[in-house]
Amino acid sequence: MSDCIFCKIAAKDIKSATVYEDETAIAFMDVNPASPGHTLVIPKKHAQTISEMSADELGNLFRAVSKVAAAIKKALNPEGINILQNNGSAAGQVVPHVHVHIIPRKSGDGLLTPWKPQPAGDELAEIAARIKSAL
Ligand code: AMP
Ligand code: ZN
Repeated sequence: MSDCIFCKIAAKDIKSATVYEDETAIAFMDVNPASPGHTLVIPKKHAQTISEMSADELGNLFRAVSKVAAAIKKALNPEGINILQNNGSAAGQVVPHVHVHIIPRKSGDGLLTPWKPQPAGDELAEIAARIKSAL
């Protein structure tokens, strides 16, 4: 996609602080990090959301995520790591090219869980059945 900023990063038309690259994925530092070490991993091939990616493509992407998360753990030794991936603007996706956030965490860093946990209602079993039957 010619006007996609992450396609431009993958093609090296825009500079990024790249930390990892293989045939199908590239990882670079987020320019507005949630915490020091916040890294993004993207597929080189454009897809807006994971619904547009095959299981193999997602496997390749998460193989890269696993490598980079291990390197972050080794290099920065964070107390915890969040792996986040937003699909669609309702889910907080701003850049319309699939990306996985790797966010190093420490106790009391003030980063918030993005939802307020609520006890499941009566609809839980019915929703589970709908998902099961769609698989
Ligand atoms: P999301 O809200 O999941 O779409 O996250 C998009 C992320 O991309 C944000 O955390 C931005 O800070 C980050 N971002 C946007 N442009 C760039 C860029 N040119 N280089 C690195 N990170 C970027
Ligand atoms: Zn793109």
